[in-house]
Amino acid sequence: MKQLVFASNNPHKLSEIRRIVGARFEILSLADIGCHDDIPETADTLEGNALIKARWVKERYGYDCFADDTGLMVDALDGAPGVMTARFAGEHCTPADNVALLLRKLQGNPLRTARFSTVIALIKDGREQVMTGTVEGEIATEERGTDGFGYDPIFIPEGTGKTFAEMGPDAKNEISHRGRATAKLLQVLNAEK
Ligand code: IMP
Repeated sequence: MKQLVFASNNPHKLSEIRRIVGARFEILSLADIGCHDDIPETADTLEGNALIKARWVKERYGYDCFADDTGLMVDALDGAPGVMTARFAGEHCTPADNVALLLRKLQGNPLRTARFSTVIALIKDGREQVMTGTVEGEIATEERGTDGFGYDPIFIPEGTGKTFAEMGPDAKNEISHRGRATAKLLQVLNAEK
């Protein structure tokens, strides 16, 4: 099977992406290629950060690869945390800190609409391509469910009534930001010979 590097060591992301692309490609993590770098995410857009990560791997390690960057845009916070989603509660914060801060900021606020977007940057055969997936939803008033990671326990995708953390991985992948971006990635990969 052909190999393709996914520029991440996040086991949750790797597992979600392997469920979609794994039948066609063996997906290698950064650790699998001996990359333990703390890749700087200094761009001010999701696309910029995804491209930084993909180019880092291609330029320093020589592998064709793809990288993702995800943001949560909350309407009541004028689109924050956006590109700062991972560091919302501070530079070395935990996912639990981020969730607690977001619940606190929205406490008592009836406007809870938000969206997740994932941008995937693919560098393959000398070409760069960018794919985006978005899911609309709202922020729950408290944490629910134990599956998934990050903000999953407080994100309710539109029309489901459940948080991502209350769905199995396949149900999340069907409608999620990353699932949608990865489906586009698979289309691009399938179109190639
Ligand atoms: P990054 O793409 O790894 O930079 O992720 C940005 C932030 O969004 C981190 O805090 C992640 O935990 C969070 N995040 C990324 N993808 C998801 C998801 O699918 N569900 C919930 N949180 C996510």
